[in-house]
Parts: sequence; structure tokens; C-alpha cells
Amino acid sequence: MYRTWSPHLPPRNYRGALSRALAGDCPKPPSQPRPTPGLASFLLKGAAVAGAGILAYKGLQAILDEDFETTEFPAWFRRELIEDHIARYGSWCPWRGHWVHPEDLTVDHIVALVNGGRTSRANAQVLCGDCNSAKGARNSLFDFLRGRAV
Ligand SMILES: [Zn+2]
Repeated sequence: MYRTWSPHLPPRNYRGALSRALAGDCPKPPSQPRPTPGLASFLLKGAAVAGAGILAYKGLQAILDEDFETTEFPAWFRRELIEDHIARYGSWCPWRGHWVHPEDLTVDHIVALVNGGRTSRANAQVLCGDCNSAKGARNSLFDFLRGRAV
């Protein structure tokens, strides 16, 4: 079928179309479907959001953290943290996942001192003495995210 008019072709009535166009009354172009974003842009956006989240978390942590400015955790803090840990989880060592005697629980630097870890609330975790020495100065990327090195 021969189409006499389409929005892509100039209409027969040029004068009418011109005056309508000058008045801002143009026929709207047909709406195009939006291109679907590719996987790369999805991953980039995800990485940007995750990076912003980590930066915000680390910034808040540095502001809210209590830094003891020593190499050893103060005795009152160790007692407080271990008592709180026992009240919440029992006499449980979460590092290897086993029950221990309450007196075996120690307070460990999440990020080891030799890796730049701080002696602060945000960098403290409760685990047993055996696991503490087994862990040594080994730190995962997750430790650096969770604990505090700067
Ligand atoms: Zn343990």
C-alpha cells in the first residue's frame, strides 16, 4: 500500500507544517527503545557503588573508632570485649570455630601490628590463644576491609 504521509516524510502541506514547526508544534519522532546496558557497564557501575560504599565505611570507621594509641589493648578493654563476646556467643572461638575455655579467649588485632594495624576498637576481635598465634601476621583482603590499618 502506498502511504501518503509519514512523520519521516515532509507532509504535503509545507506551509502548514512550517508554521506549526515555527510555533513549536512538530510531529514527535517515533520513540526509540532505549539501548539495553551491556554487562561491562553493569559491572563498572557495581564496582563504583561498592567502592563508594567501602570508602564511606572506612571514613566513618576512622571517625567513630576509639584508638588506644598503644601496641597492647588495655586490660579493661580486653575484659569488656571478652565478656561481651561470651554474653553474645558463649565461649566460642570464631576463627577456627570451636568451643574453648573462657580464660583461653584473647583479643587479637584483626590487621596485625606489623601490617600497620591500629590498636583500636575497630581492629579488635576475640579469638582463642591458639588461633591467635596460628593466625600470626597473616591478613586477608577482608581483614583489611573489616579491621583498621590507617
Ligand atoms: Zn580458636
